[in-house]
Amino acid sequence: MPAFEVLKNPQPLAAPLREKILETPAFGTQFTDHMAHISYTDEQGWHGREVRPYGQLVLDPAAAVLHYAQEVFEGLKAYRHADGTVWTFRPEKNAERLRKSAHRLALPALGKDDFVDSLRELVALDADWVPTPQSDTDEVSLYLRPFMFSAERFLGLRPTQQADYYVIASPAGAYFAGGVKPVKLWLSQNLKRAGKGGTGFAKCGGNYAASTEAMVEAAQKGCQQVLFTDAEHNTYLEELGGMNIMLVTSEGALLTPPVSNTILDGVTRRSILDMAPSLGLTPEERPITIDEWREGAANGTITEAFACGTAAAITPIGGVLAEDFEIAQGDEPGEVTMKLRRALLDIQYGRAEAPDGWMV
Ligand code: PMP
Repeated sequence: MPAFEVLKNPQPLAAPLREKILETPAFGTQFTDHMAHISYTDEQGWHGREVRPYGQLVLDPAAAVLHYAQEVFEGLKAYRHADGTVWTFRPEKNAERLRKSAHRLALPALGKDDFVDSLRELVALDADWVPTPQSDTDEVSLYLRPFMFSAERFLGLRPTQQADYYVIASPAGAYFAGGVKPVKLWLSQNLKRAGKGGTGFAKCGGNYAASTEAMVEAAQKGCQQVLFTDAEHNTYLEELGGMNIMLVTSEGALLTPPVSNTILDGVTRRSILDMAPSLGLTPEERPITIDEWREGAANGTITEAFACGTAAAITPIGGVLAEDFEIAQGDEPGEVTMKLRRALLDIQYGRAEAPDGWMV
């Protein structure tokens, strides 16, 4: 693979200031000293691989991304293990998903090697920014945000002929600072994030813009997350605004909706399904209606519910609030939920052996 040119930041943040940030990172507001970048044009393909000082971008006001949202992104974390080494979790899955997202938005396909190399180069240069866990329950990491967009100066709508791919990195503290607590979901029955044939399966900025109003609604109802059901029947569980969803049954099944073109194919979701049998659970990917959950929670056949994603690994769900009913799923994190959570984090933080190729 062509090498990345490294342009070192002549003014990196002073070590004491960096250390201070790493003590209590404010996720998504503080960034490391560098960013990775690769350019694309139809003539040259992907070129100009570089890691350069983190800094502002200059965009033409006619850049396509500002008008037609021609943008896709990814999210994954770098974890420091006890021996000091730094690892990402299944980055090839993110590379593959970025390709699928890019294809849907008619953006160019970035090769898997370029994707993984860009992470490796950035993390190597900014390794001091990867926080060190202070205990086995300290969930600190360096969040990596790869993204691609069309900066082409053109107000017509068509597949872009020019794109930019970047990776930036932000130190992240534990998602649940005060211990893992169940969240309450707002069932969004009027506002949808995805429809059949749309972009729901793609990780594109527009999907998140489209789910923001539902988040506001959720907050007004005293809920922390939004649960989306399908737009056609308004009854099949899909996912949360930024996490997939799973239910645990009294029979030991792990239920989750199948991925489709309206649901994001989460790396955490896939990994939990892969791990489930070794923890005595039977994964079942099938359509689930809100009524099935409602009845199951009431009669005790659905014993736990949780959300899963890179940000918080596994988040217990305490219940669902809808316009005219409520589902109560327990005020305390479920046993199976916490067992899966621990197993996943043990792999990510290098405390347990990972299946082949998971830690890179
Ligand atoms: N669904 C949506 C809509 C998301 O944004 C995310 C976060 N990427 C997920 C699910 C979970 O995906 P992952 O496990 O790959 O983080």
